[in-house]
Amino acid sequence: MKAAVWYGRKDVRVEDVPEPPAPGPGEVKIKVHWCGICGSDLHEYVAGPIFIPAQAPHPLTGKQAPLILGHEFAGEVVEIGEGVTNVQIGERVSPDACWHCGTCYMCKRNRYSVCEKLAFTGLMVDGAFAEYVNVPAYTLYKLPPEIPSDIGALIEPIAVGIHGIRRGNVLEGDTVAILGAGPIGLVTLQAAKAAGASKVFAIEMAKARKEFAHKLGATAVIDPTETDAVEEVRRLTGGLGVDVAIECIGGEKTASQAVQLVRRGGRAVLVGIFEKPSEIHFNELVFCEKEIVGSLAYYGEFDTAIALLADGRIAGEPLITGRIKLDEIVEKGFEELIAHKESNIKILVSPN
Ligand SMILES: [Zn+2]
Ligand SMILES: [Zn+2]
Repeated sequence: MKAAVWYGRKDVRVEDVPEPPAPGPGEVKIKVHWCGICGSDLHEYVAGPIFIPAQAPHPLTGKQAPLILGHEFAGEVVEIGEGVTNVQIGERVSPDACWHCGTCYMCKRNRYSVCEKLAFTGLMVDGAFAEYVNVPAYTLYKLPPEIPSDIGALIEPIAVGIHGIRRGNVLEGDTVAILGAGPIGLVTLQAAKAAGASKVFAIEMAKARKEFAHKLGATAVIDPTETDAVEEVRRLTGGLGVDVAIECIGGEKTASQAVQLVRRGGRAVLVGIFEKPSEIHFNELVFCEKEIVGSLAYYGEFDTAIALLADGRIAGEPLITGRIKLDEIVEKGFEELIAHKESNIKILVSPN
């Protein structure tokens, strides 16, 4: 079968590889319909290895590079391993990307995204930029008929946005600031609205992304190159600042800006993946009793994402800015995202 295999930085090859073997106990084989290119795939292409185990096998999966990328996907169950009872052949599913040990301290508290041995499909084990992929049956969520498979490929990043909102304890009526209107920022914006936020401010400088944020319902879109975002958010919240700020960039200055954006006693949630350390004076937290929390992936928010997509409170279609074939993934996927990052949100890849 055809697959996009990560060998090293700027070295992703579309090549013929053996189809995954018959699924083992507790596993299923999925025929991939659509798989989205994630920011972390792009990071691995440009600057990897970041998550990919390149030197030693991953402790949970036993795999290391070269590996097939791709973790935001939907497809159809074509084969089931021994003991699998939660799905049947022919059912369409969207798999959670997290493989977890099930026995560590945090797994036992159902917070598997911070499992000691956490592995992501398509980063620490072969993924879904391929015709077929094997995954554990416990990762599967069934797609209802009203969610086609291309929209189904968006459930993973939407779950990330919903998790960020939950980590922020966003309640109805709250005011929220989202830093960055890229793929995760835009799903987080929609998740904030679905949670009942009264005002959602998007802070973004790229023209195309500002328009996306407007279209998806931001109360105001603030360009930090034109106005002081902290002052502007204060002005729009009666001098207070927002209840919750969610950082979806991973920028050197934006994490501390998230803290400045929240009101006294407010909460900053960090969803972005940071390449460098940032500075913050902790008195900003101490003097105003502000909080900072991290948010990684999700634990169980797939059902919520499916429900909100199905009833239309979260829109998937506007996020899809490209559909390409697996053969084109380097040129029309990764290189396109590098050259035109701002005008793209989600590029979906079809292996067929
Ligand atoms: Zn992703
Ligand atoms: Zn664990």
